[in-house]
Amino acid sequence: MWTRTYLSIGTNMGNRVGNLKQALGLLNRRPEIRLMDVSSLYETAPVGGVAQANFLNLAVALETRLSAKELLNWLHVIEQSLHRRRLIHWGPRTIDLDIVMYGRSCFNNVTLKVPHPEMGNRRFVLVPMTEVAVKGDRERIEELLKITPDREWINQRLVKKEVAEWIKKK
Ligand code: AMP
Repeated sequence: MWTRTYLSIGTNMGNRVGNLKQALGLLNRRPEIRLMDVSSLYETAPVGGVAQANFLNLAVALETRLSAKELLNWLHVIEQSLHRRRLIHWGPRTIDLDIVMYGRSCFNNVTLKVPHPEMGNRRFVLVPMTEVAVKGDRERIEELLKITPDREWINQRLVKKEVAEWIKKK
């Protein structure tokens, strides 16, 4: 069974575009994952009050035969392979991959909370997601966007078509 899943990916260290391309490439490497759609690329304000560089963010829609836990493990492998450092909580990171939604499933464990509990508080998660969410999911995201208290800036840097070029099969 293939489950429709949405990821939010962010980076604010090193070659940010390179980091995103690598992360998408690694996601694509698993036969149990089918990338369905990618959003535009956005530059966004860092959260959490630690002085640090701006983030680049995008959203991905995929279908997967992995369980949510297996997918999370693969996301951790990707984060590790991009040498993600966790020196400062809320601090800079080479790459951060979050499962925002996994089908209609709800998980509330220490290691996995889905739907992501912070999604409604982050325009940098919601705005890109509106571009990749299918009917049914999209309406829900748009509702959250209407009521989100988040007022941080978020600027489109690359249109969706340009980002889609990154994941085209060569
Ligand atoms: P952070 O440093 O904020 O990226 O948090 C990473 C940790 O959050 C990971 O070790 C995950 O186990 C946990 N986590 C909980 N829910 C999720 C989720 N929906 N997606 C990704 N990581 C999650």
